Amino acid sequence: MAKYIFVTGGVTSSLGKGIISASLAKLLQARGFNATIQKFDPYINVDPGTLNPYEHGECYVTDDGAETDLDLGHYERFLNKPTSQANNITTGKIYQTVINKERAGDYLGKTVQVIPHITDEIKRRISLLGELGFDMIITELGGTVGDIESLPYLEALRQFRMDIGPENVVTIHLTLLPYLSAAKELKTKPTQHSVKELLEAGIQPDILVCRTERPVTEEIKAKLALFCNLKPENVIEALDADTIYDVPLLMLKERLDIRVLEKLGIHSKIEPDLKNWKKFLGHLKNPSESVKIGLIGKYNELPDAYKSIHEAFVHGGAANECKVEVVPIHAEDIEEETDIRKLLKELDGILVAPGFGERGINGKIRAIEFARTKNLPFFGICLGMQCAVVEFCRNVLKIKDASSTEVNPTTKNPVIDLMEDQRKVKSKGGTMRLGAYPCVVKEKSLARKCYKTEFISERHRHRYEFNNKYLDLLQKNGMIATGINPDQDLTEIIELKDHPWFVGVQFHPELKSRVELPHPLFVGFIKACIQYKTSRN
Ligand code: GLN
Repeated sequence: MAKYIFVTGGVTSSLGKGIISASLAKLLQARGFNATIQKFDPYINVDPGTLNPYEHGECYVTDDGAETDLDLGHYERFLNKPTSQANNITTGKIYQTVINKERAGDYLGKTVQVIPHITDEIKRRISLLGELGFDMIITELGGTVGDIESLPYLEALRQFRMDIGPENVVTIHLTLLPYLSAAKELKTKPTQHSVKELLEAGIQPDILVCRTERPVTEEIKAKLALFCNLKPENVIEALDADTIYDVPLLMLKERLDIRVLEKLGIHSKIEPDLKNWKKFLGHLKNPSESVKIGLIGKYNELPDAYKSIHEAFVHGGAANECKVEVVPIHAEDIEEETDIRKLLKELDGILVAPGFGERGINGKIRAIEFARTKNLPFFGICLGMQCAVVEFCRNVLKIKDASSTEVNPTTKNPVIDLMEDQRKVKSKGGTMRLGAYPCVVKEKSLARKCYKTEFISERHRHRYEFNNKYLDLLQKNGMIATGINPDQDLTEIIELKDHPWFVGVQFHPELKSRVELPHPLFVGFIKACIQYKTSRN
């Protein structure tokens, strides 16, 4: 029977519930369990697809086309396993299901209420992953204990524990121990209060994970144990780490996995196999090379907006034993007048980011022109690829009004155009081309050299696409299509014939880069940046 581990958060948000959950899952996986992670978000949006990056950071897309919270990216990067629609649930989704059922007459005659109908639907979603064959299901409850909107989740957790038997459930509460410099002390009171709040909801945490800047002494552990009804060994220290990838090893040292298994009555004799993980960390921490890569985007003050790209650079960098310094560049800062050479000349490569709308487009196009004409390695993702096509048409083919219809709906030369099946789409949520699609990679291309295989599958999130009417003209002049969707004949990868490394992709490779499987295009791009730097020097 599947075991369920719940992770709640207390005191403040942003304590890293996602990373703790992913680290625990990694340790359980390394002990041979089939672990997965699920996140419940308490907001009313049906999914985060309609939220802008200022609100919610990056929107992560799964193979089956779910637009999800960026924590799912951590789950995949840590576990090296895909997630799905079932791994991210929001309050909006829960209510939508219940209300649809009500309209269909499923509750005919009954008053539909938070308890039991909403809590039943939450419990159904929790059980779903168990039915898919996982034996350890970690459920992260978004938000902070004490929030009004979290209450139905806590109530569902309380019921669920009774339904399947408390011996099959572990509750972990992640909390903050603030350090007061005036008192020179870590303070436990906020944690005591937050545990009290949990108790009010009928939940006694089994394990406390304490996020802290300073080591937690045995004395503090004993104090927390006393006030929060726990054994002192179940108070776990989570010290700030250099990188998120250190956290599994820190949790191993703190025996978080052992404490969880003990609570479940499981004696694991296997030593966790973290060979590959440690090898990755070794490379990450001892680079022999370094490169500077410009990330040209719209949300550069918000690293979370490009979370998966940053992490893919970490994985691809480690694979090259190279430290990648990502230099954020605001596309709007390089729009007109600016001396772009001054800004970009220190760089060993540029990545033009995905995005929506008109803002910053000209800056992106100028940066691409610079990379194309100066042989600087270029990697364009989604909108970045579309801008590369527009730049080439305008500056090489001299089609001055070449544009994407997203930016200029009335252009006579729509080199990037709305996809046919998007023309009738009116509503916004979940209606883009989403999820994994196959792609055939042409021989003798840069992409093929990276992937080392002909058939790939990559994830998408867009409405516009390369307009194949221009394909012949482009190919004759040096921009070639090297990746094609075989079912719809869509151009998914473009390259420049006479350039050391110029690749644009319509899909999002960053979503599939993992610690133990760095994305081949990121690995190849970073390698090209190292070569560029060497030849320049
Ligand atoms: N806005 C573009 C489109 O919808 C690109 C999307 C993206 O970069 N994810 O096609």
